[in-house]
Amino acid sequence: MQPRERSSELYEEALAHIVGGVNSPSRSFKAVGGGAPVFMERAKGAHFWDVDGNQYVDYLAAYGPIITGHAHPHVTQAIVKAAENGTLYGTPTALEIKLARMLKEAIPSMDKVRFVNSGTEAVMTTIRVARAYTKRNKIIKFAGCYHGHSDLVLVAAGSGPSTLGIPDSAGIPKSIAHEVITVPFNDLDSLKEALERWGEDVAAVMVEPIVGNFGMVMPKEGFLEGLCKLTREYGALVIYDEVISAFRFHYGSAQTYHAFPDHAAIEPDLTALGKIIGGGLPIGAYGGRKHVMEQVAPLGPAYQAGTMAGNPASISAGIACLEVLQEPGIYERMEAQAMKLVEGIQAGADRCGIPMTINRIRGAFSTHFCSHPVTNYDEAQGSDAELFGAYFRHMLDQGICLAPSRFEAWFLTTAHSEEDIDRTIEASNESFRRMAIK
Ligand code: PMP
Repeated sequence: MQPRERSSELYEEALAHIVGGVNSPSRSFKAVGGGAPVFMERAKGAHFWDVDGNQYVDYLAAYGPIITGHAHPHVTQAIVKAAENGTLYGTPTALEIKLARMLKEAIPSMDKVRFVNSGTEAVMTTIRVARAYTKRNKIIKFAGCYHGHSDLVLVAAGSGPSTLGIPDSAGIPKSIAHEVITVPFNDLDSLKEALERWGEDVAAVMVEPIVGNFGMVMPKEGFLEGLCKLTREYGALVIYDEVISAFRFHYGSAQTYHAFPDHAAIEPDLTALGKIIGGGLPIGAYGGRKHVMEQVAPLGPAYQAGTMAGNPASISAGIACLEVLQEPGIYERMEAQAMKLVEGIQAGADRCGIPMTINRIRGAFSTHFCSHPVTNYDEAQGSDAELFGAYFRHMLDQGICLAPSRFEAWFLTTAHSEEDIDRTIEASNESFRRMAIK
């Protein structure tokens, strides 16, 4: 491994021109002890090459979208073809109908779809649509679930089990945060309490049905059923944020995942999508029940628009990516690789006396540096940030690229090889050994 000198130089240069040197705070190394992030130059399959010529195995998958690996030939060809035909028309295209059909077939609760440009936009608009439909203002969300950076969902829990929110960011008026109620995930009693108190003002309950953002957490048995039932008793809508979960665990979304026996009982009214459905280009989408979606302009009074929305390049990449994911055995293979990795990582941590709880869902998992189970955000926060930081750096120095965040998942792709997995387990064992010596 070459010293990452060029990355450090570029970081200095970036700091002079780009705020914080990065275009998304999650890319900064602030949470893992600071310093220059690695500047990547090229990516192919499951590998990155940085500007100093080092090669890495990538488990970041760009925070989820790159499920077919980097520069997958089928996806690349689709993007090239779209570029040759012109990248943006400002008119409808037949391609949009094709991707909308594919999404609807995979996620039947979506009678109607609308494409936007990011997960943030998709979520933000589902809230507007729910508010327009119910003519109510408040929303309920769950602590630790990230739903993009729009005002309403960048709100944290106040103190107590069920409270009005406090802004998670400067620049969000308290009046907006007060429209948000935050309750603990996997806790139906708290949801019930919140609905009893504010239910008549609640437009929607927003949830990641399988949580990505505090470390791959499954809903407890009956949680989603209970959530849907309670929410509807109060006349509010259920919104699923499936920006991470759709097409990550199987060809479909969390609401159609085989681990949940009664799909009809957990269907939401609205769903927000992003990431994988754009095959690595910018995209978002939202959809839901016909009568709810008819609120949206030009049919209804809820306005939402987008110059780039449904652009042929993103749509083509999305179609190509979903086509790859239809190949039989893809998800099973990613799951088998993740299982092997998890077993290797856990065994290495155990041998060195390092606390480790791994939450795995098919081909994605999170390594929590703690000994207790992680079923909600409070428990996730018990994961040791310093241990994670040390592990992250030891892994990076051995050519394994993880997200610089202790909650973020490791994502397998269709491009990871057995050799990548073996190399990663070796690096993990070595990282734990180094950590145990300190
Ligand atoms: N919802 C969830 C569940 C997410 O994980 C993210 C992004 N990590 C978003 C929404 C926001 O998506 P985007 O970054 O495309 O705006």
